[in-house]
Amino acid sequence: SSLYKVDGWGAPYFAVNQSGNISVRPHGRATLPHQEIDLLKIVKKVSDPKSIGGLGLQLPLVVRLPDVLKNRLESLQSAFEFATQSQGYDAHYQGVYPVKCNQDRFVVEDVVRFGSPFRFGLEAGSKPELLLAMSCLCKGSPEALLVCNGFKDAEYISLALLSRKLALNTVIVLEQEEELDLVIDISKKLCVRPVIGVRAKLRTKHSGHFGSTSGEKGKFGLNTFQILRVVKKLEEAGMLDCFQLLHFHIGSQIPTTALLADGVSEAAQIYCELVRLGANMQVIDIGGGLGIDYDGSKSADSDISVAYSLEEYASAVVQSIRYVCDRRNVKHPVLCSESGRAIVSHHSILIFEAVSASVPAAPAMSPLGLQYFVEALTEDARADYANLTAAAMRGEFETCLFYAEQLKQRCVEQFKDGSLGIEQLAAVDGLCDLVAKEIGSSDPVRTYHVNLSVFTSIPDFWGIGQLFPIVPIHRLDERPGVRGVLSDLTCDSDGKIDKFIGGDSSLPLHELEGKGGGGVCGGGRYCLGMFLGGAYEEALGGVHNLFGGPSVVRVSQSDGPHSFAVTRATPGPSCGDVLRVMQHEPELMFETLKHRAEEHCCGQDHGSGGSSGGETDDDDHGMVATNNHNNNNINNNS
Ligand code: PLP
Repeated sequence: SSLYKVDGWGAPYFAVNQSGNISVRPHGRATLPHQEIDLLKIVKKVSDPKSIGGLGLQLPLVVRLPDVLKNRLESLQSAFEFATQSQGYDAHYQGVYPVKCNQDRFVVEDVVRFGSPFRFGLEAGSKPELLLAMSCLCKGSPEALLVCNGFKDAEYISLALLSRKLALNTVIVLEQEEELDLVIDISKKLCVRPVIGVRAKLRTKHSGHFGSTSGEKGKFGLNTFQILRVVKKLEEAGMLDCFQLLHFHIGSQIPTTALLADGVSEAAQIYCELVRLGANMQVIDIGGGLGIDYDGSKSADSDISVAYSLEEYASAVVQSIRYVCDRRNVKHPVLCSESGRAIVSHHSILIFEAVSASVPAAPAMSPLGLQYFVEALTEDARADYANLTAAAMRGEFETCLFYAEQLKQRCVEQFKDGSLGIEQLAAVDGLCDLVAKEIGSSDPVRTYHVNLSVFTSIPDFWGIGQLFPIVPIHRLDERPGVRGVLSDLTCDSDGKIDKFIGGDSSLPLHELEGKGGGGVCGGGRYCLGMFLGGAYEEALGGVHNLFGGPSVVRVSQSDGPHSFAVTRATPGPSCGDVLRVMQHEPELMFETLKHRAEEHCCGQDHGSGGSSGGETDDDDHGMVATNNHNNNNINNNS
């Protein structure tokens, strides 16, 4: 486990068990061994052809663990409860989950259900997100906030106002000054008293990758001048009592509590000023940014780590706001945060499989013999060859490598101008490989082909170089024998993972077992997991190469013999499903190909546009049927 730093990024949810497999402690505690869930057992169970209604799911597979999600929410809540109580803070914390982090219906429903006892709400940033948040919050606490962020047109604002008529606790947060006129006009037309917030553009700037939206020049929010105009306009409209919330967002992955405290204090001053100006302030919404330690280093110097715990984060927020409000004699506001990453990252694990590995080619010498090779060379190349041989006799290996590379270069030029045959070119390649191997400079890193699309499942790695912990989920009691990079199944050179947490450019891996380097379904499977990817990755992923998303299962802890129960299983999309995404019509495609087959394969001439005569079996629409073959699988022929 130390090789993969599992204890660093995985605690308290993931560990290596006695069988050498990754196990999950869904409630984040060191439970009794039989209460831990062995990830490999989940994979085996759901991919067994006899399971899931006799179909079995194919990898890649997302395993969702609602118990982990519940624990994250409860941990965040108790961190704030502890901070408010221990510091004598006179108001409570009630967070919202920004649905953009993962809009999956079951994830959002779980957040609402698990968070209902402590008034947990939702944040939406677009009309469809608002619609789903409205519908999900109908089952939540009546006091739960529904925070409406993002660019807003008249339709978005109307919807948000109507949701107040449905007795949802909706707040329209102004991101642009122009939105205010729409809110005033439409609320009057709809006879709804709005609750309004403002997103403040703070001076505090977070300098990491995720901080580009912060600072005076940030993309979102209102500056002090604009905030003052909002106050004036609301006053003139007799609506200053509607202004109740102050929001800001410094950026994701806030690296330190010092930066957090700086931003929160600045916002608390603005909050107190708004109170002084007569706004009916109730809530301070500190946005997202609670970070995740993806590499377990607890370092403030990296975009993928943070130097604080949940408790320290909550304590810094409470302390900063209390200090400012006490000095200004302002009643402590209700605290709201929009933590996304910190809530959903841990609960979802992407499991995929290494289907083959490149074996370093054994240096091959030409069967035609060296004489044949040397004869074809130019004089310069022959001199290189002679120098190479002489250096080898003297044991000067670095010199050997120099002449080998020079010789190779000359041979490639000769090949390009047509004076060297392919056999001779192969011979010089073999010679160079042999030299590299002898002096130990050949590349020992293997390429493992994994049945996955980086673009679909780990888009942040491709887009912004974000690293996630990737670990074999079994065989961790065996020392890995090789190092490798992971290459996905898309036909795109960017579809590879060659950077790993800890700054390594390869991952320790075990040799594949079984026939052909690891049978897909046999005992020789080699399964890896990408952890902490529950936020953003699913929503951002695309259909590059028309790879659909993975299969998804929901797994809860249970007292049964396996300590877990699969409560929901969804196969990945079929070929037909992903073709439809790009406007293809699989039914028509099928008809076209059927006619073609009748014309060319059956020895019958139906003429152009010949009809099937109605005798074909319609059940045979392999690409149309919502079959259970995830189209990422290399064996898929649907
Ligand atoms: N709120 C707003 C306005 C955001 O832009 C974001 C994401 O960047 C979040 C909340 C969620 O941030 P995080 O996932 O870092 O908690």
